[in-house]
Amino acid sequence: MRTALTVAGSDSVGGAGIQADVKAMSVVGIHAASVITAVTAQNTTGVSGIFPVSEEFVKSQLEAVLKDCDIKAVKTGMLYSAGIAETVADILEDHEMPLIVDPVMVSGTDCDLTDGSLVQALKKKVLPICELVTPNRYEAEVLAKMSIRSKDDLMLACEIIGKQGSSVYIKGGHFNTPTVVDYLYLSSEFTKLEYPRLKKSGHGSGCVLSSFMTANMAKGLDIVNAVMKSRELVQESISTQYAIGKGDVVVNPMVKLKGETDRFAVLDAIDAAASRILDIVPDEFVPKNGMNIAMAMKDAAGPEEIAAVDKRMTVHNGMLRKNGPAKFGVAEHLSYVLLAVMKKDPSVRCIMNIAYAPDTVAVMEEVGFSTIVAEMSKDRLSESTEKALSKSKSVPDAIIDKGGRKERTIRMLAKDPQEMMSKLEQIL
Ligand code: PLP
Repeated sequence: MRTALTVAGSDSVGGAGIQADVKAMSVVGIHAASVITAVTAQNTTGVSGIFPVSEEFVKSQLEAVLKDCDIKAVKTGMLYSAGIAETVADILEDHEMPLIVDPVMVSGTDCDLTDGSLVQALKKKVLPICELVTPNRYEAEVLAKMSIRSKDDLMLACEIIGKQGSSVYIKGGHFNTPTVVDYLYLSSEFTKLEYPRLKKSGHGSGCVLSSFMTANMAKGLDIVNAVMKSRELVQESISTQYAIGKGDVVVNPMVKLKGETDRFAVLDAIDAAASRILDIVPDEFVPKNGMNIAMAMKDAAGPEEIAAVDKRMTVHNGMLRKNGPAKFGVAEHLSYVLLAVMKKDPSVRCIMNIAYAPDTVAVMEEVGFSTIVAEMSKDRLSESTEKALSKSKSVPDAIIDKGGRKERTIRMLAKDPQEMMSKLEQIL
């Protein structure tokens, strides 16, 4: 597996630092090795303590990783002190892989992440051996020893910072412009990258950007392509940032995995509902062919995006049993009905079948459920569901399928398994 390395600080709240770096690299499909330079005690409102790792132990971590793995690219984040920065630079200068430097100095909550000695060592030892450095406005001003108020200032700062041969990527988030304008300074040329300004970018945006770049370079992309791709990913990570505490929000480097986490959530919801069903549903409610509950992903396009209990729930020796785990694509009949239902109301994403009994229908009426009665064709379930629904104004709580010559059945509908369980409890 292609491996990249992050040399950075631990952020106890998990929004920035090593924790964010490992997530960002993993999302790009790169294994992330990590060397920890300092442990911070912090939350979303501020940093309450920093415990630097000794230079000797930073060295031990680095040597352990480098003598074993074929590291394709390295990034540094919080280096904290001149001693740690020099230790890291002394080791990395003997290695060939590209080094990306995020010159971390201050946290997003405005707390100092250096001991005051770092900047000179960064300039003297780290920048000369790096391929790319990614300062924000403040970091660029410190590194170039000038204030940046105009585009000309910014270009001059890039030239100063990159004078020892590295490329410079200045992040535009902290400038007062209507859009966010970043600049890549590479081989004496400037490339402008302009993005809509979103809300204030959350904790970890700088860490995540440099980690995406490092991982993309570990994949073999050149600087320009790694930068372009990574900047897109950061925009998405910022636009989906979320709150975890009382202070700053954190960026979401996992945004590309959203589909996967949604799938897990649907499977979990089905498994939880199925366990509850086993506890509360009497045998007479279970259809002869078995009972099932299914839930669709948002905007599901087919049965493969609908999860249900694999091999249904059936009665064995008087006990209702789950014959498999929640799985996608295992409930064809319920799925076709649900897909037709979702065409009418996409928010109704859960379906469950129960045995038909006149008593059950009577109870449904008593508790005020809306129902429709339909003659459904087993071969054309979607079409017959659509036809049945076309006569009602909204999606009912249940469709009572007269079943023709087959078994009669009731298919209950709800927005999600939780709502389904509360509906079920009303009629049992
Ligand atoms: N590294 C660590 C360990 C941090 O705690 C922080 C911020 O708090 C940073 C890096 C920089 O974070 P950002 O990506 O928000 O600039």
